[in-house]
Amino acid sequence: MNVPFRIGIGYDIHRLVEGRRLILGGVEIPFEKGLLGHSDSDVLTHAVCDALLGAAALGDMGTHFPDTDPRFKDVSSLDLLANAFGQIAALGYAVQNVDAVVLAERPRLGPYVKSIRESLAAILAIEPGQISVKAKTSEGMESVGRGEAMAAHAVVLLARK
Ligand code: MG
Repeated sequence: MNVPFRIGIGYDIHRLVEGRRLILGGVEIPFEKGLLGHSDSDVLTHAVCDALLGAAALGDMGTHFPDTDPRFKDVSSLDLLANAFGQIAALGYAVQNVDAVVLAERPRLGPYVKSIRESLAAILAIEPGQISVKAKTSEGMESVGRGEAMAAHAVVLLARK
């Protein structure tokens, strides 16, 4: 479909467990727990990746990078995002902007937001000013609020190059 703009939404959630590194937007964040999963389980990058694939109606991460495939064991999610970016670029689209929300009770993510925006911007071939990353707690409620999980939402706008 040769349309000028396409918008996509992404959502993801991962369990927080001991003995794992915490990676968000490709940036390692010092914390006593990390996110559980097959890859590095970077919940923010997964949400952005699904938003990118969704904007182009290319399916989702589960279809492109199945967690049953040993090639994706402990892989950096930035590599998966780069793959998805390559697919939308091949269709003639560029990323215009990303807006994302990370839901995490702890740690405070504010000090890492600048690095996260730079990290994602480098993969998506845009400026950090085209990426917004916001952090929210869940006010002590539900799995995120109890410190059992982190979640992320992302919206992306693509435009024809
Ligand atoms: Mg995920």
